[in-house]
Amino acid sequence: MSSQIGSRINSVKADIHQIEIRHQRIPGDVCLLAVSKTKPIADILAAKAAGQSQFGESYVQEAVEKITTLADKELIWHFIGPIQKNKTRLIAEHFDWVHSIDRLVIAERLNAQRPKFLPPIQTCIQVNIDNEASKAGVPIEQVQPLAESLAKLPQLNLRGLMTIPQACNDQDEQRQRFAQLRRQLEQLHQLGLKLDTLSMGMSGDLESAIAEGATIVRIGTSIFGKRTTR
Ligand SMILES: *Cc1c(COP(=O)(O)O)cnc(C)c1O
Repeated sequence: MSSQIGSRINSVKADIHQIEIRHQRIPGDVCLLAVSKTKPIADILAAKAAGQSQFGESYVQEAVEKITTLADKELIWHFIGPIQKNKTRLIAEHFDWVHSIDRLVIAERLNAQRPKFLPPIQTCIQVNIDNEASKAGVPIEQVQPLAESLAKLPQLNLRGLMTIPQACNDQDEQRQRFAQLRRQLEQLHQLGLKLDTLSMGMSGDLESAIAEGATIVRIGTSIFGKRTTR
């Protein structure tokens, strides 16, 4: 598998480029986050050899082992999984980005636990766009108050919004959901918050997400292959 990772990275990047052109996005505006959860260090190194520097992880313990092992590689690490209160310290100490903040208590703990010698953590609020009971994220009505509170925390830099919509094959429906997130970001702009990030789009809904303004797309399977565990 490792041997194919480089060519898969290149092919995903080429897809992103084509989609950017098709939807009048500025080429290079969309950042590829390679989701390496459950995958071994060798796979991450294979992706790095193909020029990939941003990696997404969802399980704290596993991620911290990788980050520590690869400390000298100058990689950028994004936490994208559900956050338990007792894991915030490890996240604050090891990650550059956190996409999955969905309540103030988590933000406050990350703010307090971020080591002062590190830059602020780049953060996104995770939005539960379909109001699915089983899914993490705040309902869209609660984004604004949470964003205003987060923006006051000095060790966090609020960058934007993230969502994982319900799986659906209809492009119009996909786009409607992503458009909701884009409009919510625009509303926050009007409040004076300087935000530049929409973390949305995975393998199955990449085109819809980029068409609606995604700036970070999170891709696992198309790069690293199917996950056998978790
Ligand atoms: C696992 C995961 C991804 C990547 O999903 P694939 O289907 O493997 O591309 C993206 N975003 C989040 C939040 C994830 O947990």
